[in-house]
Amino acid sequence: MAYRLNRKISDLEPYDPISGNYRIRLDANESFLPLPEEVRQNLAQDIASMPFNRYPDPCCTKLCKAFAGYYSIDPQLVTAGNGSDELISLIMTAFLMKGEKVITVKPDFSMYQFYASISEAPCVVVDKEEDLSISVDQLIAACRNENAKMIIFSNPCNPTSLGLAADEVRRLIRCVNALVVLDEAYMDFWDQSLLGEVEQYDNLIILRTSSKAVGGAAIRLGFAVANPVITRALRAVKSPYNVNSFTQQAGIQLFSHKEALQKACGELISAREKLYQGISELEQKFPSRLHVYPTCTNFVFLRMDQAKEAFDFFLEQGVAIRFMGQYLRITAGSPEENQEALRLLREFMNR
Ligand SMILES: *Cc1c(COP(=O)(O)O)cnc(C)c1O
Repeated sequence: MAYRLNRKISDLEPYDPISGNYRIRLDANESFLPLPEEVRQNLAQDIASMPFNRYPDPCCTKLCKAFAGYYSIDPQLVTAGNGSDELISLIMTAFLMKGEKVITVKPDFSMYQFYASISEAPCVVVDKEEDLSISVDQLIAACRNENAKMIIFSNPCNPTSLGLAADEVRRLIRCVNALVVLDEAYMDFWDQSLLGEVEQYDNLIILRTSSKAVGGAAIRLGFAVANPVITRALRAVKSPYNVNSFTQQAGIQLFSHKEALQKACGELISAREKLYQGISELEQKFPSRLHVYPTCTNFVFLRMDQAKEAFDFFLEQGVAIRFMGQYLRITAGSPEENQEALRLLREFMNR
């Protein structure tokens, strides 16, 4: 018995978000809205007549067309994936040669470093500023000093809820030779997308997901948008049938109901606003103990001395949120769920 797992995987644990039964889940940035009724009905019909014995369309032609139609872009620039997670993993393995460096920022989405490590790409981590903003100058410098071949970050950012203005992102893309992988998972909640201009750059991939504003976390569907040269490479390296027929059909239905999608997005934003307002009021009452960051996402990010105690208090009351060191991240839920979260936070602060 001489076989041993290698170093990069021997100590890994299976991904396990907070497990257990909680009456309210505000920990995963999902949409709190159910599928629009018309989408649900149409989808049921589509599935009833689906050819189960056949492989799915490897090019996701109709799906990419529906996605592109929703965002008014060219479908030729779109590649679909099994969640943007799959695309992140694919980009790390395919667009970096052995030993080539990738730059990430901190704090940011943890999966970037995870997939970099699995694909054995050396990862250079650039710390964000004191106020958690990204310094583009610092990123450009790091990219040059390290001779990095890729930069990946989320905009707006998970977990900080902050956004980097489109002009700053453009400046970064133009000033580096590296491939910029811009994860716009939360851009439906903000207006600084670069989706419409990918063809102007030879070094940009934008990632989008149907897991957040689109309300389709269950179907595992993500997209990469890039110029035709990059898109051709992406389509060539992905596994052929990476997006199953159910997901393709669900995605087609979702993105074809433009009004329902936009309405849902508006509801998510107003839920976020209420949650943010409530926490802001608490901040004014306890400015030394709590700070809430401005948000352009569907969640709020706060710094608290007693973040861990507050997190445990929420859990005891059956409400799951996300705890990260001195910070808490709370996803905007339904109006009732947000009221409950605010009630708990108030109670905690007043203890
Ligand atoms: C939620 C999230 C995603 C989405 O991942 P999927 O695999 O598409 O569900 C991607 N990037 C960031 C920053 C996220 O927060």
